[in-house]
Amino acid sequence: MTRLLTEGGAVAVVDRAAAAAPAKALDVNNPQAKALGYILDTTKVDAKANPMHKADQHCGNCLHYQGKATDPVAPCAIFQGQTVVNKGWCKVWAKKPG
Ligand code: SF4
Repeated sequence: MTRLLTEGGAVAVVDRAAAAAPAKALDVNNPQAKALGYILDTTKVDAKANPMHKADQHCGNCLHYQGKATDPVAPCAIFQGQTVVNKGWCKVWAKKPG
C-alpha cells in the first residue's frame, strides 16, 4: 500500500502490489473463456459452431488485445488480469481500427 497526497490534499491509497501483479495466461477451460469459445489457435476454430469466424481474425488484430500486434501474448480487455495468445481467438473478436 502506498499513500499519495493529491492536489486537493486528499490521500489516495494505491495498492501497488495489486497493480503490479503479473497477468496470468488465460486457461481455455476457464468458464468465461469456454463461454466465449476462446481457443489458442484461430486456425482450429470450429467453423460450424462459429460461422462468422474468418481466417484472418486473431487476438493480435482484435480491438481488445492490449499489446502490440507483434506481441506473442498480451492482456485482453475482456478477460481482465489475464493474457491471451496473439494467434488465439474468441467469439467477441472485433477488428482493431487502423
Ligand atoms: Fe482474443 Fe479479442 Fe477474444 Fe480477447 S476479445 S480473447 S483479444 S479475440
